[in-house]
Amino acid sequence: MPRAQPLGLGAHPSVRDTNINRLQGMRTLSEVTAALDETYPRHWAQGWDRVGPVCGRPDIAVRRVLCAVDVVPETVIEAIEGGCDLIVAHHPLLLRGVSSLDPSADYKGDLVHTLIERSIGLYVAHTNADVANPGVSDALAGRLGLADLRPLRPLDGPEHEDSGRGIGRIGRLSDVKFSALVEHAAKVLPATAWGIRAAGDPDRIVRTVAVCGGAGDGYLDDAVAAEADVYLTADLRHHPVSEHIARGGPALIDAAHWATERPWLDTVAERLSVLVDEVIVSDIDTDPWTIHQNSGVNRVES
Ligand SMILES: [Zn+2]
Repeated sequence: MPRAQPLGLGAHPSVRDTNINRLQGMRTLSEVTAALDETYPRHWAQGWDRVGPVCGRPDIAVRRVLCAVDVVPETVIEAIEGGCDLIVAHHPLLLRGVSSLDPSADYKGDLVHTLIERSIGLYVAHTNADVANPGVSDALAGRLGLADLRPLRPLDGPEHEDSGRGIGRIGRLSDVKFSALVEHAAKVLPATAWGIRAAGDPDRIVRTVAVCGGAGDGYLDDAVAAEADVYLTADLRHHPVSEHIARGGPALIDAAHWATERPWLDTVAERLSVLVDEVIVSDIDTDPWTIHQNSGVNRVES
């Protein structure tokens, strides 16, 4: 399992700010979550989503923060071992209503108990971080080296006019073959057992690339409308992909869900590093797919 990557003092350009903050005293949980609320306002989240503080007393001091995509036993252990006072997660631990947090009945109840017993706060920034500028897909596009980014599906409303906020991003690359871009994506995205799979003509010349961190098959039509040559996202399914390719849409790259969102953790860490002593970015691969085997490679011809 990969080790966590510490982003301590001195590893970030804002050391001067951090020192000032240290002289002024520790940040409380409520101060850190207020800063996160300002960066990722909760009302930007989709209606079904559940974002913001989950647990943790507002007046606890926050010195160390763990940033993780998922709150699972492995990342909670990482937070405990790292001496963290707060976990900032992308995916909500408690998305649907619960009537019990019995720790013996479900791992989620056990995790909530563990966090409270250890006095570790939990805060979630999910679809509100997806649409932010910079947001989850900016970090993904940054890994690929895309230039001139704009939202794949801009947010509507006067608050968002000319804000650059919205779902997904679309950007430019200098001309490259699709097969080379697939190879490049596999190199620059965090490693997972899932890896990268792709659909489309390997010799197609790519100039415009759309990306969406997380499950993005709902935005295939937006990638078509934006005249992207390629759309990279996660969790693509057989029928939407099959029909999309048959219609001559953009070539597709399907990466592991975790790998498309992990790059954003660096953005959050940068924001938090001016507030607290240390930010740890979790590199524990929490993608649920852990075994990958190419089929047919050892097939014996009869
Ligand atoms: Zn996600």
